[in-house]
Amino acid sequence: MPKNILIAIAWPYANAEIHVGNITGSHLPGDIVARYHRLKGDNVLMVSGTDSHGTPVTIAADKEGKSVEEVYKKYHNGFIDLFQQIGITFDLFTTTHTENHFKVSQSIFLALKENGFLYTRNSMQWYSSSAKKFLPDRYVEGTCYICGDLGARSDQCEKCGNVLEPEKLINPRSKIDGSTPELRETEHFYLDLSKQEPDVINFLRQRSTYMRETVLGESLRKIEAEGLKARPITRDLDWGIPVPVEGWDDKRLYVWFEAVIGYLSAAVEWARISGKPEAWKDWWVNPSAHAFYFIGKDNIFFHTAMWPAELMGAGEQFLQVFAEEKGKLTLPFDVPANQFMNLEGQKISGSRNWAVWGRDALTRYDPDALRYYLTINMPENHDSDWDWKEFVFRNNGELVATWGNLANRVLTFCYKHWDGHVPAFGTGGDEPPPLRPADLELLAAIEAGFQSVGRELEAVHLRAALQETIRLASEVNKYLDTSAPWFEIRTDKEAAAKSVYTALKAIDSLKILFAPFLPFTSEKLNGFFGNETPLFGEQYTETVNDSLGEHTVLRYRGVNGLLWKPSDLKPGAKLNPPGPLFKKLEESVIEEERARLGR
Ligand SMILES: [Zn+2]
Repeated sequence: MPKNILIAIAWPYANAEIHVGNITGSHLPGDIVARYHRLKGDNVLMVSGTDSHGTPVTIAADKEGKSVEEVYKKYHNGFIDLFQQIGITFDLFTTTHTENHFKVSQSIFLALKENGFLYTRNSMQWYSSSAKKFLPDRYVEGTCYICGDLGARSDQCEKCGNVLEPEKLINPRSKIDGSTPELRETEHFYLDLSKQEPDVINFLRQRSTYMRETVLGESLRKIEAEGLKARPITRDLDWGIPVPVEGWDDKRLYVWFEAVIGYLSAAVEWARISGKPEAWKDWWVNPSAHAFYFIGKDNIFFHTAMWPAELMGAGEQFLQVFAEEKGKLTLPFDVPANQFMNLEGQKISGSRNWAVWGRDALTRYDPDALRYYLTINMPENHDSDWDWKEFVFRNNGELVATWGNLANRVLTFCYKHWDGHVPAFGTGGDEPPPLRPADLELLAAIEAGFQSVGRELEAVHLRAALQETIRLASEVNKYLDTSAPWFEIRTDKEAAAKSVYTALKAIDSLKILFAPFLPFTSEKLNGFFGNETPLFGEQYTETVNDSLGEHTVLRYRGVNGLLWKPSDLKPGAKLNPPGPLFKKLEESVIEEERARLGR
């Protein structure tokens, strides 16, 4: 029975390009799991979009001297370009700045309000009389009241690392014009998370056998120890989603409150522009659907506490208003948050250019070479490190030597000696080809990979899944070392035919096992084997118009069918001319790349 799988991937902020740490943190793991389930014939919906709101985006706009709209679109279009190049196959990658997302977010807000989970409270906030507006925390700088650093942000001091109470900042000044702001009283809506604490704890306990210990430590254990406190969910801003309450025109919904709603609103938008407006419910109002959230460790709280609280607090009410339907909204099945990837032993820092940027790296390396290193080195349970020496070493020693050369050597040898066909032997027809015990043993070992690799992928152990696949590829190399068809052919062509057929069939299966990780080269290999049906569908962009203007979305048109199964390669089948899958890298790359860092 095909399952309905929702793949929800963290929404990138529209204030910086995406680097390798972001890719391995959320986009790539989500894509690997999505591709695996699609190959298995499951119904996958993979969504995300650009987080276009919030002060990081308005600050980027101020810095670049452009309108917020221009800035968010510039980064949004860059993200789409990157995802197409590296093959992150979103069914819909949209933005939070759409009429649809505004509507869904406001509906969730109103449902929570109606259900008694919101209240208002006054607090003190810095106000600029020259700009005639309240200043968001990141717009006020001054002296840290803990360490005395002169350049502290009002909500956090970079020097001592402490989170600050904005109103305690010494000598505050506005980042807009340097003027001195004053404290004024302002009113905000709060999500009363303390009221929902039992429900959130209950939900996390139910999922605790499945979730990573690193994730539980930042969610369940923390909430059990410290409890949940109410959180303000509105801000004094003019960029973002209006608060749907009379008299609140000068405030907006807090970006973290509404960005997580994007997982739901993107599914609604996807259904609408696909011409089947009810289809989002197959994942969102369906108790048997499984929702996976791929995020970085800094966002665990929002996905394990705040978002489930919003879903449970608004669910039924939201559905009645939004879909005239009864039921519950789907809660997260797993939140396999990753740790961080560092770079050459230091924290990745965009502002210091201590980063490997996705689009820049793709001008020099093939997407599958990057995907391989980012998976085998994925920070699943602890921080990992991008090291250029290791990148070159693993590319040449594993990807090229163990897998690429195997496929290329066998296909080239076969193409030459059997005139572009899979070797034919035995009686033909429906009879299974008469193979030797060693041949059958290898094929059985590779066939078992569909369970062993599949199990790791189901559990989102992606490093282990890829290691297991590489191990299976080395089994084929060992088999060829023994059977050595390159020598066999001189004395016994029938024996060589059996060896080459066996190796080809193993490679044809490995092509599928590698496909979620290395989709571009598996697709190429699929073509070498003479297949006309591709393994994967196509990515494409579309322009959507609404009352807020137009936005570009990235989409995916899939192919149907169950492909996660062992090869049924037939003796005598026609092949296409083979070619190499991967490139060997020169060792000089290491110093060239290191010299780029921090410039
Ligand atoms: Zn400080």
